[in-house]
Amino acid sequence: MREIMTGQDIGTTIDFRGQGPYEARHPWPIETSVSSGSSVVLIHNAKEGDRTSCTTLFMEVYPPGAAFIRGEGVTPEVCEDAAWVKYQRVLNCADGSGSHKWEARGYRNGAGFCCRCGTFGSQIFAGEQLDHFCRVCGTGTTYHCDTDKAAGTTTFLCEEHYKTP
Ligand SMILES: [Zn+2]
Ligand SMILES: [Zn+2]
Repeated sequence: MREIMTGQDIGTTIDFRGQGPYEARHPWPIETSVSSGSSVVLIHNAKEGDRTSCTTLFMEVYPPGAAFIRGEGVTPEVCEDAAWVKYQRVLNCADGSGSHKWEARGYRNGAGFCCRCGTFGSQIFAGEQLDHFCRVCGTGTTYHCDTDKAAGTTTFLCEEHYKTP
């Protein structure tokens, strides 16, 4: 059994706020980093007609092969189980090609989602693949984009030309 700690590689203990140290019970890869905490969720009570708040714990893991997985729940165990289930879906997603089936879903920064398992990845797409080219030099880029809502146009700048237009 490995332990995990906030913001650290798996191998130590994760500290959910107010919950004390928690030892991970799933065999996360050693390269995985994790962060955790609690967030207050407002629950609308239809019967009473008012709002009550309830604290939910969350755990965010960054394992190899997936940019980001979040699990939520009332206990650290539930959070980890939720994240683990998602991670298994990520690992078992590939159709033998060893990769996800990415789609940009409107993201312009090169990030994408897998349309099979739903995992989120950053730096999936190059500018060329998204048809985003620097308006100065014509190089494919996702570095910076400007949207002119009035004109309905979007233009892109590479890192070099964003810094020195
Ligand atoms: Zn996938
Ligand atoms: Zn450029």
